[in-house]
Amino acid sequence: MHQSLSNEQLISIANEYGTPVYVYHAEKIAEQYQKLRNAFSGTDARFFYACKSLTNPNVLRYIQGIGASLDCVSINEVRLGLMAGFLPEQILFTPNCVDFHEIEEGKNLGVNINIDNISILEQFGNRFGGSYPVCIRLNPHIMAGGNFKISTGHVDSKFGISIHQIRHIERVVKTTGVKVSGLHMHTGSEIKDVGVFLRGLEVMFEMARHFLDSLEFIDLGSGFKVPYREDDIETDVVSLGKQVAEAFSSFEKETGKHLQVWFEPGKYLVSESGYFIVKANVVKTTTATVFAGVNSGFNHLIRPMFYESYHFIKNVSNPNGPERIYTVVGNICETDTFAWDRKLNEVREGDYLVFFNAGAYGFEMSSNFNSRFRPAEVMVENGEARLIRKRDTMEDLLKNVVWE
Ligand SMILES: *Cc1c(COP(=O)(O)O)cnc(C)c1O
Repeated sequence: MHQSLSNEQLISIANEYGTPVYVYHAEKIAEQYQKLRNAFSGTDARFFYACKSLTNPNVLRYIQGIGASLDCVSINEVRLGLMAGFLPEQILFTPNCVDFHEIEEGKNLGVNINIDNISILEQFGNRFGGSYPVCIRLNPHIMAGGNFKISTGHVDSKFGISIHQIRHIERVVKTTGVKVSGLHMHTGSEIKDVGVFLRGLEVMFEMARHFLDSLEFIDLGSGFKVPYREDDIETDVVSLGKQVAEAFSSFEKETGKHLQVWFEPGKYLVSESGYFIVKANVVKTTTATVFAGVNSGFNHLIRPMFYESYHFIKNVSNPNGPERIYTVVGNICETDTFAWDRKLNEVREGDYLVFFNAGAYGFEMSSNFNSRFRPAEVMVENGEARLIRKRDTMEDLLKNVVWE
């Protein structure tokens, strides 16, 4: 965790736009992008922002402006990316379990297509032959990531085509003439150990030998971990960058084949840029604990309940108050605990509490559960805050209702 906006800035945004509100610090995104660029400067690398983590078109436009490309998992994300100014060539479409029409639509829009199923590869090859190169998502059978829910490369995962089906893939490629321009893996999220990427890369090089004529890139997906607590570690991208560069250059020496390396960072780019500001509605002392009850809940930030993820919480309204232990809960009528036994500067009713690391999978996973409004979103760029999404209104809740 890292605080790049001051308490005063956060308080003034909360006062102006109300709470709960998501705030994104643009320059922090650029800083993270630059760190990746520097770390992989020894390779021919491209970075595709995994936009499912945060899709506000203003954020997409900003990320397009700093030079990144875009990874999309649905055709609507592709459309948002195009609206935000990405060129089709800058977009990689990595869907899973979608109707073939959605893939066809991606092709019609001219974006890079990542195929994660043999039957789809077969249909695609039959329809388009070698006229439209594709990337193939492989499952390297590597267990990786912070926990099972965010792990995708293991043997039970629904993602990708097993590397053990390589003979079958080759058969489909040969009979349909489909051109394989890329091989992809994405083994999970919050990978601390860079060895996981390197083991994956070895597998990918092994697979690459089957498609050397047409291959242009290897996509190592994402999984870069960011710090959530003080003293928490982040994936060592500098060390990873060095080792990936060495691996690619020895592959090139051996095979004469120059390949690009692609990555798809989501969290790494936007997690730390985001702050979620809520207001303490009530402080309630029970026989067991002191609850700080806030004007939000898992309808707005589901990660603590869904993944047991840790978000640092700060009382920006009373930063010098004495520290006390709280259980921070939301107002949703269901178990709705953000944090147990959390040391916070004394919380008074009306104080603003700020959740850190709220850029990725925060607003994006929010809902209208309990008929509450989804929060507003604000972006801070060059020290200026601007509203980039209004808070819902009653009209939004009723928008699609068909009255009898
Ligand atoms: C979710 C996802 C990512 C991003 O993962 P992070 O952990 O947010 O970096 C990248 N690639 C694919 C295919 C994904 O589904």
